[in-house]
Amino acid sequence: MSRLLLLSSIVVSGMTLSATVQAEDQHSFAELDRVSTPHLELDLTVNFAEKQLEGTATYNVSRHADADELVLDTSDLTIHKTELWLNDKWQETPFTLAEPHETLGQKLTIQVGDSSEKVRIHYETAPTASGLQWLTPEQTAGKKHPFMFSQSQPIHARSWIPIQDTPALRLTYDATIRTPDQLRAVMSADNALTAERSDAYELSMPQPIPPYLIAIAVGDLEVKSISDKVAVFAESYIIDDAAWEWADTPKMIEVTEAMYGPYRWDRYDLLVLPPSFPFGGMENPRLSFITPTVVSGDRSLINLIAHELAHSWSGNLVTNASWRDLWINEGFTSYVENRIMEAIFGKRRAQMELALGYQDLLGDLETLAPADTVMNIDLGTRHPDDVFSQIPYVKGQLFLVYLEEKFGRDVFDAFLRDYFDAFAFQSISTEQFKNYLQQNLLAQNPGVVSMEKVDEWIHGEGLPEDAPRPTSDAFEQVEKQMMVWLKGGQLQTTEWTTHEWLHFINNLPLDISAVNLARLDREYALTTSDNAEIAHAWLKLSIIKKYEPARERLRSYLLSIGRNKLVAPLYRELARTPDNLKWAREVYQEARSGYHPLTQSVNEAILYQEGDE
Ligand SMILES: [Zn+2]
Repeated sequence: MSRLLLLSSIVVSGMTLSATVQAEDQHSFAELDRVSTPHLELDLTVNFAEKQLEGTATYNVSRHADADELVLDTSDLTIHKTELWLNDKWQETPFTLAEPHETLGQKLTIQVGDSSEKVRIHYETAPTASGLQWLTPEQTAGKKHPFMFSQSQPIHARSWIPIQDTPALRLTYDATIRTPDQLRAVMSADNALTAERSDAYELSMPQPIPPYLIAIAVGDLEVKSISDKVAVFAESYIIDDAAWEWADTPKMIEVTEAMYGPYRWDRYDLLVLPPSFPFGGMENPRLSFITPTVVSGDRSLINLIAHELAHSWSGNLVTNASWRDLWINEGFTSYVENRIMEAIFGKRRAQMELALGYQDLLGDLETLAPADTVMNIDLGTRHPDDVFSQIPYVKGQLFLVYLEEKFGRDVFDAFLRDYFDAFAFQSISTEQFKNYLQQNLLAQNPGVVSMEKVDEWIHGEGLPEDAPRPTSDAFEQVEKQMMVWLKGGQLQTTEWTTHEWLHFINNLPLDISAVNLARLDREYALTTSDNAEIAHAWLKLSIIKKYEPARERLRSYLLSIGRNKLVAPLYRELARTPDNLKWAREVYQEARSGYHPLTQSVNEAILYQEGDE
């Protein structure tokens, strides 16, 4: 399935954006060039007992062609009724729900006639909705109340809202969320900071966003302000720690505005998710969703906040038009993240983080199929979740580092700032970016970088010969110390941050002796480290080295954390030997109900489909 979308003029909340979107989105049935949906009103009841959302989605209809059908994406939804607003009242209208596609869900086609301005869908979600996770009270830290949250990116919004689920669309939304009255509902919207709980919350997102940025969470949430513009929403057990950990967020906003222009989303709040949140963070506008595993007690993992904040420019403001253009979101964001870290914490730390990212990229380049190392990747209809790698992130970032080095920072910063202005609140394809780059950077500075070189980066496999290969002096020092330590000397770790520890553990020689492993653990208590990243690196090594004293911690780690980046590599390492695989399956079965659907599907592939059963 493939289609060409050509939108000439989208009317959004009374203002006309002349957005020309040319994209081939192979992951949506929507036909935006015929009928699109610039505004959504949600009215949903949150039913924890049934693990269901139930209610209505009402769309403003915008016709771009002679068309009388609205096509939406759905997945696992039960559609009860569809209606049109005609002659001042709601009137039922026919719909058809196609057979399920393997990865894309079910196409919903609604007869909208030629004059109705609004369409309403009555529906409910399935308890198995891929974009929602429902946690029992026992699965939360407070143990008293249930918790529910969404993860819509890339194509899971359709599992909780019937929607034109393509990032080429931009829409505003209003929502009424009906909850049990002890709980608070928050969304990627104008969340109130008042402490009062209610049984219904009215929320609004006035800026046009792509569907994958519609987000909801409902739980026993407190709120604490960091500044007049930034607050943390969290369960009470972690709210003070999170507010302390992320105290630099207001400063991060300031330095980013100085580099790339105004923050255009009014407030920037942070929501701490339960440990089962499958990602590090999700850049839901106005309210980033964040894993508790980065509340490390030493502010050493705050680059994740820099990353989600950076998305307020790259991704949320200027958005990839389809998932094969993901590098437009993530490459720019990784670049901006690193610039924020440099501006606040200095070059040394930023360089360490860049070098760590580069090491991760090298690992992926070794294992990925060559065609999947292309930035403008050909996904076909493969699920974007199945093709997740460092390519759009770090290769994209290195491409921008390369341009910065070639044109100089002043020129490149000015270019980026203009780029964010030029495409603000629009979704763009890789081709549109290339045209803009040609006109506004390459042609203005002739003879510096050719379009062939740009094409090599964007459409070529692997890394170009002259790609930046970031290293870090700090890591060279760590490696020198490692040599001394392996010969029986002492480490000087008082100045070490999480990054140095990760580099140390990840680069220990695999023939390290059992005696030395035990010594390291005795001297630095790595098995019991509270830092989720350091513990991860150590536990992974403990599997490879069959270091049994870490086994019980490994078990409790896998049972208490569902962030996929931290658990999947451990299951993958365990799956390499029959004994470990058997043990891993037992742990997995115990952990499974606490994992997000995405974490479940990734790890079941590792433990069962790739295994010997
Ligand atoms: Zn990102």
